[in-house]
Amino acid sequence: MTISGVTVKHYAYCPHIVRLEALGFSERVSEAMLEGQLIDKEKEVSFLFTKYKEIIRKPVYRWKDLIGSPDFVLHAYNYYTPLDVKAGKVPRLDHKYQILFYSYIMDRLGMNVKEAMLYYIAGKKLIRLQYSETEKRFVEKLIGWIREAMNSEVKIVQKKEKCENCGFFSYCKPRRVGKLYYTL
Ligand code: SF4
Repeated sequence: MTISGVTVKHYAYCPHIVRLEALGFSERVSEAMLEGQLIDKEKEVSFLFTKYKEIIRKPVYRWKDLIGSPDFVLHAYNYYTPLDVKAGKVPRLDHKYQILFYSYIMDRLGMNVKEAMLYYIAGKKLIRLQYSETEKRFVEKLIGWIREAMNSEVKIVQKKEKCENCGFFSYCKPRRVGKLYYTL
C-alpha cells in the first residue's frame, strides 16, 4: 500500500487514522482545509528564492511505494532542499515528519539533501531541519511503524479535544471515558 506525505501527517496525528485509511475510509474535508489550499504560498516564500539557481514547484517524487510532493524544492550547486509552506504560527511534529519523509524519498532517488525547510505564514517563521544519517534512520523506522499501523488493529487512547477535531471521528467512533477516547 502506498505511503504518501498525507499518510505520514495522519500517522503523526493518530496512528489509528492510517488503519482507517487502509480500510478505505477517507477524511472529511473541513472549511479550514479548503482555505489552506487557497493560500498563495509562492508569494509568502519568494524572498528565499533569490539565493537558489532553480526553484522546482510542487514536484511529485516516487520511490518504490513511497510518494511525496513538497511545495517547493530549492536547488543550489548540487544540493536540493524541500520546502513546505504552512498556514500556522508554530512548528508541528506532523509537518516535521512530512518534510523529512520527502527528504528521504529525494535521497533514495539520488538527490543530495542536507536540510529541509518549513515556513509558517502566520508566525513568519522559517524552520531549518538537518537531514543526515540520523534523520534517514528515523524516517526508515517511521515508515516501519506506519506499515504496522496500517495492518493491525491496536488500542489507541487520545485526548478528548484531539478526537473531536479529527476528520475521521465519524468512522472511528471511539468510546469516551471522561476526558479520553479509546478505540477498542
Ligand atoms: S477519532 Fe481519535 S482515536 Fe479515532 S482516529 Fe481520530 S484521533 Fe484517532
